[in-house]
Amino acid sequence: MISRSALIWLSRHEGLKDFATRFGYFKKLTTRFVAGETIDDAVSHIRAINAENCTASFDHLNESVASESEAEAEVTEYLNILARITETQIRSNVSIKLTQFGLGLDPELTYRNARRVVEEAHKRGNFVRVDMEDSSVTQATIDIFKRLRAEYGLNDVGIVLQSYLRRTYADAQELVKLPARIRICKGAYHEPPEVALPDKKDVDANYVKVMQLLLSSGTYHGIATHDPKMIDATIDFAQREGIGKEKFEFQMLFGIRRDLQRQLARDGFNMRIYVPYGKHWYPYFMRRLAERPANIWFVMKNLVKG
Ligand SMILES: Cc1cc2nc3c(=O)[nH]c(=O)nc-3n(C[C@H](O)[C@H](O)[C@H](O)COP(=O)(O)OP(=O)(O)OC[C@H]3O[C@@H](n4cnc5c(N)ncnc54)[C@H](O)[C@@H]3O)c2cc1C
Repeated sequence: MISRSALIWLSRHEGLKDFATRFGYFKKLTTRFVAGETIDDAVSHIRAINAENCTASFDHLNESVASESEAEAEVTEYLNILARITETQIRSNVSIKLTQFGLGLDPELTYRNARRVVEEAHKRGNFVRVDMEDSSVTQATIDIFKRLRAEYGLNDVGIVLQSYLRRTYADAQELVKLPARIRICKGAYHEPPEVALPDKKDVDANYVKVMQLLLSSGTYHGIATHDPKMIDATIDFAQREGIGKEKFEFQMLFGIRRDLQRQLARDGFNMRIYVPYGKHWYPYFMRRLAERPANIWFVMKNLVKG
C-alpha cells in the first residue's frame, strides 16, 4: 500500500497532475473533495451548505506561487470572493494561505497582500482565516498574522495551529492572550520528528489539551476535525465547564464526514465547512488521500470502473 509520506511527496509535485488527469476519471473524483473550478461553482455548493444550517469558509486553491504577478492574481481573486459573498449573501468567511500571497518570494510583499484582503473583509464585515502550512513557514505565518491582528480586530482576522507540532501549545498560550481567534487542527503535512509528534496518540492528546485551552479562553475558536473522539472530548469539556454551544464552532472539510456535519448542525452546534475550489486542486486533493488509506481504494475502484 502506498504510504502517507509518499502521497504527501506526490502532492508537492504538481507536474504529476497532468499525468494523473489523463485518466478522465481522476479529475471527476476530485469533485468529492473540491467544490469545482470557479467562484460560482463554490457559491452554489455553499448555498446548499447554508441550507443545511452550516456556514462555510471559501478557499481558492493555489499554493506556493512562483511570481509577484501570480500573488497579485490571488489577491484579486480573494477581493472578488469577498464581493461575491456580499452580493449573494451566502454565509461564508474566507481562508487564505500565505504562500499563495508570495511568502516563498518576499515576506513584506506577502504581508501587504494579506493586508489588502483583511482590509476588504473588515470593510465588508467579513473574516479572514490564515491557514497554517508546513513547518518551514510556521514562524513567518505567525509573525505576519500578529502584525495583521495588531492593526485589525479580533473578528477581522484569525489563524490556524496544528496539534502535531511540538511548539503548538506554547503558541496557543501566547496567541490567546492577544486575544486571537484560532482554528485548531491536527496538521496535514509531512514533518520530521524534531518538529512534530510522530505518534498519533500524542497528536490527539495535544489536540485535546489545546482545545481545552482555547475553549477556556472565552474567545470564539474553531475546532477543526472529523475525528469523533476529538468531537466528543470537545462536547464533554464544554458541558463540564458550562461553555455554551454558541461559544465555539466545529469545522470540517468539504465532502468529508457529511453525516457528522449534518448531525452536529442538527444538534445545535455551529458547524463550518471549508470549501476549496480552483484549478490548482492537485496538492490539496493528494493531502486528503494521504489522510485516509480508504480514500486510495475509493480512487482505485473508480479508476478501474472508469
Ligand atoms: C476546516 C479544516 C481546516 C483545516 N485547515 C488546515 C490547515 O490550515 N493546516 C493544516 O495543516 N491542516 C488543516 N486541516 C487538515 C487537518 O490538519 C487534518 O489533516 C485533517 O482534518 C484530518 O484530521 P482529523 O482531525 O479529521 O483526524 P484523523 O485522525 O486524521 O481522522 C479522523 C477520522 O476522520 C475521517 N477523515 C479524516 N480525514 C479524512 C479524509 N481525508 N477523507 C475521508 N475521511 C477522513 C476518517 O473517518 C478518520 O477516521 C484542516 C482541517 C479542517 C477540517
